[in-house]
Amino acid sequence: MSDNYLTVIPTDPYWQPGRDAADRAAAALSRMLPDDDARRGLEAKWNDGVEMVWCGSNLERILCPRCGAECAPDWWAESVSQRYDEGFPTLVVTVPCCDGETSLNELAYDWPMGFARFRIEVLYPNRSWLTDEELATLTDALGHPLRQILIHI
Ligand SMILES: [Zn+2]
Repeated sequence: MSDNYLTVIPTDPYWQPGRDAADRAAAALSRMLPDDDARRGLEAKWNDGVEMVWCGSNLERILCPRCGAECAPDWWAESVSQRYDEGFPTLVVTVPCCDGETSLNELAYDWPMGFARFRIEVLYPNRSWLTDEELATLTDALGHPLRQILIHI
């Protein structure tokens, strides 16, 4: 059986909430899950450094946010591994398509993915995407805008 996660991360990859805000957001997300099995899989996680939150086999393509060109998978993988080796002190990259600066976190990922030092993840959520309204509720609870990622491994 494959693993599925529903994960929310702050839109700012370096931002971390306090314990209270994280608890509020986790409780709000818990109420959006359909059953106790899904709730048991919910966990809030802090990490000292930035981690990549990859969407797994759902990743189909990556577009440049500046000009809309498709990023070559090899270029992307190399850029990520270079920044990873440095410990992600920055996510800034120069895109080859239009020679502009952007962040690895701001590339247009289809499906969405991102980078974060905090996440709330649900293993086997038994549901699909959060609605805009649900995401807004979580943003209120956490005090910071969120991006959602559906991970399929
Ligand atoms: Zn470009």
